[in-house]
Amino acid sequence: MTSYEDMLDKAYAKLPTASKADAVRLDIPQIKGALSGNKTIISNLDVIAKAVRRDLPHVFKFFLRELATTGDLKGTEAIFVGKFRPDMLNNKVEKYIKEFVLCPQCGKPDTHLEKADAATLLICEACGAKESVRSLK
Ligand SMILES: [Zn+2]
Repeated sequence: MTSYEDMLDKAYAKLPTASKADAVRLDIPQIKGALSGNKTIISNLDVIAKAVRRDLPHVFKFFLRELATTGDLKGTEAIFVGKFRPDMLNNKVEKYIKEFVLCPQCGKPDTHLEKADAATLLICEACGAKESVRSLK
Protein backbone atom coordinates (compact mmCIF):
# COMPACT_ATOMS: atom_id res chain seq x y z
CA MET A 1 0.00 0.00 0.00
CA THR A 2 1.49 3.29 -1.08
CA SER A 3 1.30 6.02 1.52
CA TYR A 4 0.02 9.45 0.63
CA GLU A 5 3.49 10.90 1.22
CA ASP A 6 5.02 8.42 -1.25
CA MET A 7 2.42 9.41 -3.83
CA LEU A 8 3.38 13.00 -3.20
CA ASP A 9 7.08 12.35 -3.76
CA LYS A 10 6.42 10.48 -6.99
CA ALA A 11 4.05 13.14 -8.24
CA TYR A 12 6.58 15.83 -7.49
CA ALA A 13 9.37 13.97 -9.24
CA LYS A 14 7.27 13.94 -12.40
CA LEU A 15 6.78 17.71 -12.51
CA PRO A 16 8.76 19.32 -15.30
CA THR A 17 11.19 21.93 -14.03
CA ALA A 18 12.54 23.71 -17.11
CA SER A 19 9.47 25.82 -17.89
CA LYS A 20 8.75 26.69 -14.26
CA ALA A 21 11.33 29.42 -13.77
CA ASP A 22 8.88 31.94 -12.34
CA ALA A 23 7.03 29.42 -10.23
CA VAL A 24 10.36 28.29 -8.80
CA ARG A 25 11.28 31.90 -8.12
CA LEU A 26 8.08 32.07 -6.07
CA ASP A 27 9.27 29.03 -4.12
CA ILE A 28 5.91 27.31 -4.00
CA PRO A 29 5.76 24.44 -1.51
CA GLN A 30 4.19 21.14 -2.48
CA ILE A 31 0.69 20.42 -1.27
CA LYS A 32 0.67 18.72 2.12
CA GLY A 33 -2.38 16.54 2.01
CA ALA A 34 -3.96 13.73 3.95
CA LEU A 35 -6.97 11.57 3.32
CA SER A 36 -9.59 11.32 6.02
CA GLY A 37 -12.44 9.00 5.06
CA ASN A 38 -13.79 10.38 1.80
CA LYS A 39 -12.23 13.78 2.39
CA THR A 40 -8.93 15.31 1.40
CA ILE A 41 -7.40 17.71 3.91
CA ILE A 42 -4.74 20.16 2.79
CA SER A 43 -2.83 21.56 5.74
CA ASN A 44 -0.61 24.07 3.95
CA LEU A 45 -2.89 25.87 1.49
CA ASP A 46 -2.35 29.00 3.60
CA VAL A 47 1.42 28.70 3.14
CA ILE A 48 0.91 28.37 -0.61
CA ALA A 49 -1.45 31.38 -0.62
CA LYS A 50 1.18 33.42 1.24
CA ALA A 51 3.91 32.33 -1.17
CA VAL A 52 1.90 33.73 -4.09
CA ARG A 53 0.63 36.72 -2.05
CA ARG A 54 -3.03 35.85 -2.37
CA ASP A 55 -5.82 35.46 0.19
CA LEU A 56 -6.41 31.94 1.42
CA PRO A 57 -10.21 32.16 0.77
CA HIS A 58 -9.52 33.06 -2.86
CA VAL A 59 -7.22 30.07 -3.37
CA PHE A 60 -9.73 27.89 -1.52
CA LYS A 61 -12.60 29.03 -3.76
CA PHE A 62 -10.47 28.28 -6.81
CA PHE A 63 -9.90 24.74 -5.54
CA LEU A 64 -13.61 24.20 -4.85
CA ARG A 65 -14.41 25.33 -8.38
CA GLU A 66 -11.64 23.31 -10.02
CA LEU A 67 -12.31 20.12 -8.07
CA ALA A 68 -16.07 20.59 -8.54
CA THR A 69 -16.74 19.73 -4.95
CA THR A 70 -17.72 21.23 -1.63
CA GLY A 71 -15.59 21.75 1.41
CA ASP A 72 -14.73 23.76 4.47
CA LEU A 73 -12.05 26.13 5.51
CA LYS A 74 -11.30 25.51 9.19
CA GLY A 75 -8.65 27.94 10.27
CA THR A 76 -5.76 27.18 7.96
CA GLU A 77 -7.00 23.68 7.13
CA ALA A 78 -8.70 23.27 3.78
CA ILE A 79 -11.07 20.31 3.66
CA PHE A 80 -12.44 18.98 0.38
CA VAL A 81 -15.07 16.30 -0.06
CA GLY A 82 -13.59 13.58 -2.25
CA LYS A 83 -10.26 11.82 -2.63
CA PHE A 84 -7.87 13.88 -4.69
CA ARG A 85 -4.46 12.74 -5.83
CA PRO A 86 -1.52 14.92 -4.82
CA ASP A 87 -0.29 15.33 -8.40
CA MET A 88 -3.74 16.63 -9.36
CA LEU A 89 -3.69 19.09 -6.44
CA ASN A 90 -0.20 20.30 -7.33
CA ASN A 91 -1.38 20.81 -10.91
CA LYS A 92 -4.24 22.98 -9.61
CA VAL A 93 -1.71 25.12 -7.73
CA GLU A 94 0.16 25.61 -11.00
CA LYS A 95 -3.07 26.41 -12.79
CA TYR A 96 -3.95 28.98 -10.11
CA ILE A 97 -0.53 30.61 -10.50
CA LYS A 98 -0.88 30.77 -14.29
CA GLU A 99 -4.35 32.26 -14.08
CA PHE A 100 -4.15 34.54 -11.03
CA VAL A 101 -0.50 35.27 -10.31
CA LEU A 102 1.74 35.38 -13.39
CA CYS A 103 1.40 38.47 -15.57
CA PRO A 104 0.05 37.41 -19.00
CA GLN A 105 2.16 40.15 -20.61
CA CYS A 106 5.60 39.79 -19.07
CA GLY A 107 5.26 36.51 -17.15
CA LYS A 108 6.47 37.97 -13.86
CA PRO A 109 4.80 37.02 -10.58
CA ASP A 110 4.90 40.55 -9.13
CA THR A 111 1.17 41.10 -9.36
CA HIS A 112 -1.92 41.67 -7.27
CA LEU A 113 -5.67 41.36 -7.76
CA GLU A 114 -8.06 44.29 -7.67
CA LYS A 115 -11.84 44.30 -7.74
CA ALA A 116 -13.30 46.65 -10.32
CA ASP A 117 -17.12 46.64 -10.46
CA ALA A 118 -18.08 43.12 -11.48
CA ALA A 119 -14.63 42.27 -12.80
CA THR A 120 -11.44 41.22 -11.12
CA LEU A 121 -8.22 42.66 -12.50
CA LEU A 122 -4.75 41.19 -12.36
CA ILE A 123 -2.42 44.15 -12.00
CA CYS A 124 1.25 43.74 -12.81
CA GLU A 125 3.64 45.75 -10.68
CA ALA A 126 6.54 44.97 -13.03
CA CYS A 127 5.15 46.14 -16.39
CA GLY A 128 1.87 47.87 -15.46
CA ALA A 129 -0.38 45.49 -17.41
CA LYS A 130 -4.02 45.20 -16.32
CA GLU A 131 -5.85 42.06 -17.37
CA SER A 132 -9.28 40.93 -16.30
CA VAL A 133 -9.39 37.48 -14.75
CA ARG A 134 -12.19 35.11 -13.79
CA SER A 135 -14.20 36.20 -10.77
CA LEU A 136 -14.57 33.46 -8.17
CA LYS A 137 -17.77 33.55 -6.17
ZN1 LIG B 1 3.79 42.31 -16.37
